Amino acid sequence: MTIETLLPTPDIFSAKRLLCVQPHYDDNDIAAGGILTQLRQNGAEIFYLTVTNDLMGVIDDTLSPEAAAERLKRDQFAAGKIVGVSQQGWLGYPDAGEYDYFAVRRDLLKYIRMIQPDFVFTADPWLTYEGHRDHIQTGLATAEAVMFAGMTRIASSDPTVDSAYPGHEIQGVAFYYTREPNIIADISSTWDDKLTAVQCYQTQFTSEGMDDLVMGLDLKSRQVAMGTDFERGEPLKTLHPSALHCGF
Ligand SMILES: [Zn+2]
Repeated sequence: MTIETLLPTPDIFSAKRLLCVQPHYDDNDIAAGGILTQLRQNGAEIFYLTVTNDLMGVIDDTLSPEAAAERLKRDQFAAGKIVGVSQQGWLGYPDAGEYDYFAVRRDLLKYIRMIQPDFVFTADPWLTYEGHRDHIQTGLATAEAVMFAGMTRIASSDPTVDSAYPGHEIQGVAFYYTREPNIIADISSTWDDKLTAVQCYQTQFTSEGMDDLVMGLDLKSRQVAMGTDFERGEPLKTLHPSALHCGF
């Protein structure tokens, strides 16, 4: 018996039901649009949940918050069609603002207990030099919600969801935006789809900003695939939920 047989690295390619929790509207697609498109093509059902309202990144200052939110959602639905997202949800916490960590965790417990995913994607909260608190809070609250989903004494934000929750197995969590990947997913076949999806986010990028983003993604996808037999990759840290505590 080894630690690896006790807590095997979960097989992300077997995922059938994914909950992808992102700080902002575009993070899932920017970081993991290639692998998510591929998993969808393999038959997985994909749910996106966006923690903040993302309003600070909107480039058109003349838009009201309501009009900006509508545009952001329009972009997100267009991108989601390409990736194959089944359902979108929004928690609406203030982008780059003050909000309660435990309120986010309660909401995430609710969605995990409702959707019952076999895999959960989110931003790696332990990314060294990550300066955006939305990313750190989202990743950490998601990791805790994955660990605590089966412990219904830890309340979600909806008691009816908690009392109806039958329990289920979460096979793994996949952190994107990570510096310690244990998987480089081959996204060569879905790179074009990823790029088309990312380019839907027009409300948050000037055309120069989008060009820079595309160039950065292009270089990064090739860089992480160096030493493999494929052209483009996305790095992920995939862990069994029990590996999220005390260093196992
Ligand atoms: Zn973000």
